Amino acid sequence: MRPTGKLHLGHLVGALKNWVDLQERYDCFYFVADWHALTSDYASPGGITGYALDNVADWIAAGVDPDRSTIFVQSLVPEHAELYLLLSMVVPVPWLERVPTYKEQQEQLAEKDLSTFGFLGYPLLQTADIAIYDGRFVPVGDDQVPHLELSREVVRRFNQFYGEVLVEPQPLLTPVPRLPGLDNRKMSKSYANTIDLTDDSTTVAKKVRQMYTDPKRIRADIPGTVEGNPVFMYHDAFNPDAAEVEDLKTRYRAGAVGDVEVKTKLARALNAMLEPMRERRRDILARPELIREIAVEGSRKARTMARATMARVRDAVKLRYSV
Ligand code: AMP
Repeated sequence: MRPTGKLHLGHLVGALKNWVDLQERYDCFYFVADWHALTSDYASPGGITGYALDNVADWIAAGVDPDRSTIFVQSLVPEHAELYLLLSMVVPVPWLERVPTYKEQQEQLAEKDLSTFGFLGYPLLQTADIAIYDGRFVPVGDDQVPHLELSREVVRRFNQFYGEVLVEPQPLLTPVPRLPGLDNRKMSKSYANTIDLTDDSTTVAKKVRQMYTDPKRIRADIPGTVEGNPVFMYHDAFNPDAAEVEDLKTRYRAGAVGDVEVKTKLARALNAMLEPMRERRRDILARPELIREIAVEGSRKARTMARATMARVRDAVKLRYSV
């Protein structure tokens, strides 16, 4: 994850929940992509390290266990940059230019000048991040799927030149790979439509009241549409009381429930889910030196692996000078 702001519910259902579950079955590497944050925030990098520690606190509060998974910081493992450079030798520039997020983000973040080499190289750096750990699976939201497709193509091309050196990665999507925000666009910090993991219960309730819902339903007695309605998508994703959700859906379709009731029950379910995380987060943030230690220790562990991969890669590209 890029440390460009606070984490929100989209991060939780699109990635973090998966991160926690995958710890049971895989040797997991989770990292703060601070160089990736610089690709868009290079003009004002002052917030990155603060968000990095804040994000790691959220990961741990959500259940990522530093004893089981490796938590690290990208820039503390500079071998990522070396692999990125070597991959850049084989990647045709048009492959990067046609990644859909490249143009989309340039248009959507028009206030930032994203015509840089670093921003174009974003998904290539991501390929290096994955391949340097022989990553087979990458737990992401669906916005990242084209990046993973590029990663697979780049790895194949690299291997064509140099032999079976790198492993092709696959995306691992969650049941909610794209969570809408309050305005029904994708939830994203750049759209200011988020519910943050750190929002208090009053803020959550207030934001839920502002949520986009069926626009044709101007009165409670008009039958409403549940499918594609973000308020019900949230109920499905976050309200564990399936009977309550079914009852609300039935009455909504029949025009027999007001938006206020549907949203009040959603805010209650969200707050019940978030409260234990808020508590754990408070405990963790009370010991900032511990978060730093986890990130530094994890980076040391990651670096050992990254170095071993780079020794293999340097051999493959015939850049081994034995002294
Ligand atoms: P980013 O903040 O862009 O670095 O995203 C970090 C991770 O969260 C990526 O795996 C994204 O796919 C995922 N993510 C971000 N926003 C959403 C969303 N609204 N719905 C689902 N997943 C998301």
